Amino acid sequence: MYNYIQHYINGQWVDSTGNETIDVINPATEEKIGEISSGTKEDLDKAVQAARDAFPAFSQTTKEERADLLDRIADEYEKRKDQFIEVIMAELGSPVTFTTNVQYQMGLNHFRTAAKLVRDFDFTENRENSFIQKDAIGVAGLITPWNFPTNQASTKLASAFAAGSTVVLKPSTETPFAAVLLKEVFEAAGVPKGVFNLVNGTGSTIGNGISSHPDIDFVSFTGSGGVGTKIMENAAQDIKKVSLELGGKSPIVVLDDADVDYAAKTAISHIAGNTGQVCTAGTRALVPESMHDDFIQAIKNHISEYPVGDPKDKSTFTGPQVSEDQWKTVQDYIQKGIDSNATLVTGGTGKPEGLETGYYSKLTVFTNVKPEDTIAQEEIFGPVLSVITYNDLDEAIEIANGTIYGLAGYVVGNDPEALTKTAKSLRSGRIVVNNEQADFTAPFGGFDQSGIGREWGDYGIEEFLEPKTIVGLP
Ligand code: NAD
Repeated sequence: MYNYIQHYINGQWVDSTGNETIDVINPATEEKIGEISSGTKEDLDKAVQAARDAFPAFSQTTKEERADLLDRIADEYEKRKDQFIEVIMAELGSPVTFTTNVQYQMGLNHFRTAAKLVRDFDFTENRENSFIQKDAIGVAGLITPWNFPTNQASTKLASAFAAGSTVVLKPSTETPFAAVLLKEVFEAAGVPKGVFNLVNGTGSTIGNGISSHPDIDFVSFTGSGGVGTKIMENAAQDIKKVSLELGGKSPIVVLDDADVDYAAKTAISHIAGNTGQVCTAGTRALVPESMHDDFIQAIKNHISEYPVGDPKDKSTFTGPQVSEDQWKTVQDYIQKGIDSNATLVTGGTGKPEGLETGYYSKLTVFTNVKPEDTIAQEEIFGPVLSVITYNDLDEAIEIANGTIYGLAGYVVGNDPEALTKTAKSLRSGRIVVNNEQADFTAPFGGFDQSGIGREWGDYGIEEFLEPKTIVGLP
């Protein structure tokens, strides 16, 4: 059992001023694995005060000191590899191979990258007759979702520490324990008291409290669009800066010269990876009409190579949904697909055979989906792929850009001209050509309703800074 019924404020565990707790469930077993405090407004106030008090000294540290701190954090993070993997598997149901190679690794990459970038980062700049100084923004409230427990928190924390800002973190109530391990990492690395504060609790109390808190200067949020709107509304009351990393409905544009097996496997891996609970997942495969039948056959041929099952089994590719609520949402969308004129290729509602315990869904693929169908427009956040056909590249690009989102886009094929045209025409924050690996120094974020602002690398650090122009300096 992991029980953390306190909050981490000013370098120590502090009792909650309330006595309500929240159970945390392992979604693979449906068993309770621990509980956390449901924090109160008073708990949040204490944490914000600690961050405020720590800000003057921390913001005045040199960039070399902060780079060294980030490197020590990365070292301590690495020492706890097995613990991170165990905790993320238990709270998220994330399969061991994916947890090791992706979940654990992404968190580490953010700290290492920030350490490297901040050493070369220009916090000052000379212009014609001005001197520009970039100051740490102040106290940042960080609100994170459950789908990548260390990645989501680490990208924000690495940027905040690099910039010299102090923070209050509120993780998701579904996956709060990875943040406790981060706290241990920071303590061991020597993060000064009050620089990092952790308050657990609900979105309605702690989340709302952060976005409306007069002593918080910046809210960095990752989560759903609906909550993003509420955060902006609250933050607007005192003109608080926000960055919002929200949902997506990303297209995979398959070019007519693509290898059909490679394209089908790419599409399956997008819905199967992290059980489709990935904001950047390619969930709409746009396929040339002439390739459609071969593509569907390739999906049928390869889908069994992505087994759904026990997260502890190394061969498992796809685990359960994070919670019963999320499972029901996914089931509702699959039913909507069945009720539409789309054709079910594989999967469907209900749990996969032999997986009655745990919030497991079937890998589900629909074809003959129309671009305007609900399953092709709304973020499902589960293992559901919509296959849509197109006749020429301009039509594919129009369909690809035809949602309220713009988080990511994928292109699969060979012709350099068509790859370039498609990649440059997609209106999204991140385009991936032929499964190229992520660049952790490059900006991450969305166009349109996928968000505001950018994380990762030096763009992420900039979010935690305020540029100040001085003219007439003697
Ligand atoms: P969510 O919006 O329900 O919750 C995210 C966080 O916000 C949680 O910590 C939650 O407790 C908190 N919260 C809830 N209500 C709040 C309120 N009124 N005020 C402030 N905070 C509140 O999202 P989720 O279900 O945890 O995560 C899934 C969503 O996150 C999906 O839409 C997904 O696309 C998105 N997401 C986006 C990115 C990205 O980088 N763009 C990454 C991962 C997930």
